[in-house]
Amino acid sequence: MKPVIALVGRPNVGKSTLFNRLTRSRDAIVADFPGLTRDRHYGNGRMGERPFLVIDTGGFEPVAKEGIYHEMAKQTRQAVIEADVVIFIVDGRAGLNAHDQIIADDLRKTGRSVILAVNKAEGMRHANVTAEFYMLGLGDPVVISSAHGDGVRELLDYALDMV
Ligand code: GDP
Ligand code: MG
Repeated sequence: MKPVIALVGRPNVGKSTLFNRLTRSRDAIVADFPGLTRDRHYGNGRMGERPFLVIDTGGFEPVAKEGIYHEMAKQTRQAVIEADVVIFIVDGRAGLNAHDQIIADDLRKTGRSVILAVNKAEGMRHANVTAEFYMLGLGDPVVISSAHGDGVRELLDYALDMV
C-alpha cells in the first residue's frame, strides 16, 4: 500500500501548487481566487524509490454550515480520514489566520499525524516567518515555497518518515 498524504488548509494557501509539484502535473487547478478545487484530487508522486499518493483538497472553511464551503469541508474531512499523514499548509505571507487555528484544533481531534508547512516563504527569514505559527500547537513548522520548490524535499522526507 502506498502511503497517502493529504494537503489541507484554508483556500489560497498554495495546496494545489504543492500538489502540482509533488505529482509534477498540471492536474490541480491553481488559481488566484480561493475555492476553485472543489473536489478531492488524487495524484501519484515518487520520492526516489518511494511512491506515494497525494490528495489535494478544495480548502477547509470550517465555519460554513451549508453550501459549497460546507461541501468542501466535508470533502476535506474525508481526505483526512483516508490519509496516513496530513500536511497542513498555512500562508507565511498572510500570517496566522483565525481559520488556521480552527483547522488546527479540528486536525488535532482526528488523531492523524500532522505536519505544519508554512508556504510562500521564498526569500523570507525562517525564524520570522514561523514565529507566530507555533501558537497552533503543532510543533516546529516546515518552511516551504511550493511555487519555487524550497523546502519541499525536506517536507516530503519528513512526511514519508512519519508513515
Ligand atoms: P489553494 O487554494 O490552497 O489550492 O492555493 P493555490 O495553489 O491555488 O495558490 C493560490 C495562490 O498562491 C496562487 O496565486 C499561487 O500562485 C500562489 N502561491 C502558491 N504557492 C506559492 C508560493 O510558494 N509562493 C508565492 N509567492 N505564491 C504562491
Ligand atoms: Mg486548490
